[in-house]
Formats: sequence, C-alpha cells, structure tokens
Amino acid sequence: MTVATHYMPHLSDRIEQLQESATIRMAKLSRELKAQGHDIIDLSLGEPDFDTPQHIKDAAKKALDDGFTKYTPVAGYTELRRAISYKFKRDNNLDYSVDQIVVSTGAKQSIANAVMCTVNPGDEVLLPAPYWVSYAAIAQLAGGVCREIPTNIESNFKITAAQLESYITPRTRLLIYSSPCNPTGSVYTHKELREIAEVVKKHPRMYVIADEIYEYINFTGEPHASLAGFSDVKEQVITVNGFSKGFAMTGWRLGYIGAPLHIAKACDKMQGQFTSGTCSIAQKAGEAALLSDLTECRKMVDEFRKRRDKVYALLCEIPGLKVNLPDGAFYFFFDVSAYFGKSYKGEVLQSPEDISLYLLNEAKVALVSGEAFGDRQCVRMSYATSEEKLTEACRRLKNAFALLT
Ligand code: PMP
Ligand code: GLU
Repeated sequence: MTVATHYMPHLSDRIEQLQESATIRMAKLSRELKAQGHDIIDLSLGEPDFDTPQHIKDAAKKALDDGFTKYTPVAGYTELRRAISYKFKRDNNLDYSVDQIVVSTGAKQSIANAVMCTVNPGDEVLLPAPYWVSYAAIAQLAGGVCREIPTNIESNFKITAAQLESYITPRTRLLIYSSPCNPTGSVYTHKELREIAEVVKKHPRMYVIADEIYEYINFTGEPHASLAGFSDVKEQVITVNGFSKGFAMTGWRLGYIGAPLHIAKACDKMQGQFTSGTCSIAQKAGEAALLSDLTECRKMVDEFRKRRDKVYALLCEIPGLKVNLPDGAFYFFFDVSAYFGKSYKGEVLQSPEDISLYLLNEAKVALVSGEAFGDRQCVRMSYATSEEKLTEACRRLKNAFALLT
C-alpha cells in the first residue's frame, strides 16, 4: 500500500480562529476529572438538574408510535409553530403569526441563524458585557466585529439607554442581549426596555436579538418584559426562546424565534441548507410542553428560588467576595477581584481564570471564569443542582479562599 507523504493536516481560518465554548470546555474538564476519581462538584454548565416533566416525555413516546419519524417542514411542524404563536400571545402578549416563527435545533441555532442572516463582514455587533459566551463566537463567525458595552456589579450588570446610544455607529447592525441574563441573572424591567427601545427606533438599520430563554426563571414578581412588545421597534426585534431551561429539555435541542417575516424566511432558508429542521419527536414534545399548563415549570422555578436564597446567604459569608442577588436565571456571577495578587503555594492568582482553575484543583468545584463572558472581575456559578451539593460547594469555596494569602 502506498502511503501518501504529501498530506498536511489543515483547517479553515474560520475554525482556527473560533474559540471553544468556555462553558462546554469547563464541563468537559470536570467530567474528565470525575472519571479519574476526583470528587468534583460541577457548577459550570447551565443545565437544570430536573428531569423533563412526564407529560412531555409521554408526548414524545406517542409521537414515535404515531409515526412522526420523517423530515418535518424546515421551520417546524405547523402545529408546533401554532403552539408557539399561542404561547407568545399567552405569555408575552406578542402577535407572531405561524410564518414568523422558525423552530431550530436549540436556541443556540436560532441565534446562529439570526446572526448569519443579519450580519455582513465588518458590521458591528453590540454585546452588553457580561454576555453569554456563544454570542461573540457566532458573531465573529459571521465576520462581525464585536463591541462590548461594559457594565459592573454596582449597576447590577445592566446597560442604560444612554450607554447604548453612545456605542452606536453607522456600522452597528445588531445588539444581542439576554434577560433574564446568562451569566448575571439580571432582569431588565419594562421601563428600562422602553428606554432602550427609544434608542433602537432611532437607528432603523439596526436589529436586536432579544434572548428570552430564561423567561420563566424570574423571581422579580413582575411580568417578563419583551422588547418586541413595543410596537414601534417590533420590526427590528428577533425574539429568541426555547425549551432547554424552563422545561428542563436541554438534550431535546429545541429552540425558536419570532421575527419580522423577511428574517423568518431568511432563517428558514439558512436552516434548509444546514439541518433541514430539527427532530420530529422533539417537536411533538415541545408542542405538548407549550399547550399544557405551567405547573411543573413553576415547581422547578420555586426550587431555583430556594436554592438562590440559600446560596446567596452562603456566598455572602465568604470574605472579600462581592455578590449580588440575581433576579432570574440560575447563576451567580460574583466578583473575586479582592483575591487578585494573593497566592497559594507560591503561585500568584491574577485573574478570574486563575481563580477558577485554583478552585477546581483545590476545592474541586467547577465554575466558569468571567473572561469567557467578557468580564475580568467575576466567576460564574450555576446553581441548577441539589441544595446539598450547593451547600457543600460553598463550604469548599470558603475554605479554599481562606487558604489564599
Ligand atoms: N441563550 C442563552 C442565554 C443560554 O444560556 C443558552 C444555554 N444553552 C442558550 C441560549 C441556548 O440554549 P439551547 O440551545 O439549549 O436552546
Ligand atoms: N447555556 C448553558 C451555559 O451557559 C449551556 C452551555 C452552552 O450551551 O454553552 O452554561
């Protein structure tokens, strides 16, 4: 057999330049350490620990038995899109017709579709920082130039309308934000979004991706506010949502957009070349999730709130940390900068990345460094796990921080 000697492994510039997802990298690292026998408490990945509610699973089983095993329309079954249209009206008072809705393989793909369909190389994409890791990576894949709008724990990690205005240039094409926010848990109020809408409407070339995937996990007691609810900017807004968080359906890979018709059509075309649409069985399960009442979902949210309160009290006991009480999602994003310059066994810790690696090795607790989210002070902790594990994790963190001198 002749062995080719001229072969040189090579990849595209695009993939060489792409950053690996930091949340997924940290989850992989802690899985590897667990497999080696280490007792790791993994608080890295944003994934509910609850199982998918039974009635949703039953709908999936029925879908299989009923023969829903073929390609679906690229944008999703009409019945599912009708259920989404109903959900938008029921929960958000938003009017999206079936043809304005595109169902995808997770909200992650919904965002990727929307970015690919709106951003040209060189266009500026505004990211209030800290932002969810994949926004920047996806925008860069589209050739976009990311511009971070900085916030800090003192402002509860929220941008103001005036700040947004000062970042807009003739090249600004897109703003991407999440509320409730991953990684900070912050929630924009109706009034704050109204002010943001005032700025957006002055810039008709600009679109906004409003990522509402944590909509149900909101502890403010106020109704969830949607930017698309302001009719004067609705034509500029792409509303993203999904099933992973509220219905504990991460593995089903199901997300969707409600968007202006021309954007929905573009995303349908994009997806027709990439995936031909998402899994038929997951779609039937998603339809059941939206059409049933939200009792199961509310039970999970109550549990998240209890854990949040517990973890908040425990984190506040650790000297030096700055912690805010998150209003939604299931993350703490706390400031560890008081520990920069401190050392352990002669090694000086200078950044959130150093601190998260130290905590992984010494406390055996996996968190995610703020750097991946565009922040240089904080680390992210997911509290989507049992109270028992969270209590033990906070005990370990307290001990590990106390060892730094
Ligand atoms: N947006 C945000 C803010 C998220 O945290 C996630 C978490 N995975 C997603 C989108 C994507 O969710 P999925 O693809 O699982 O629907
Ligand atoms: N959104 C979750 C997180 O931020 C899941 C991981 C991911 O999809 O990147 O941890």
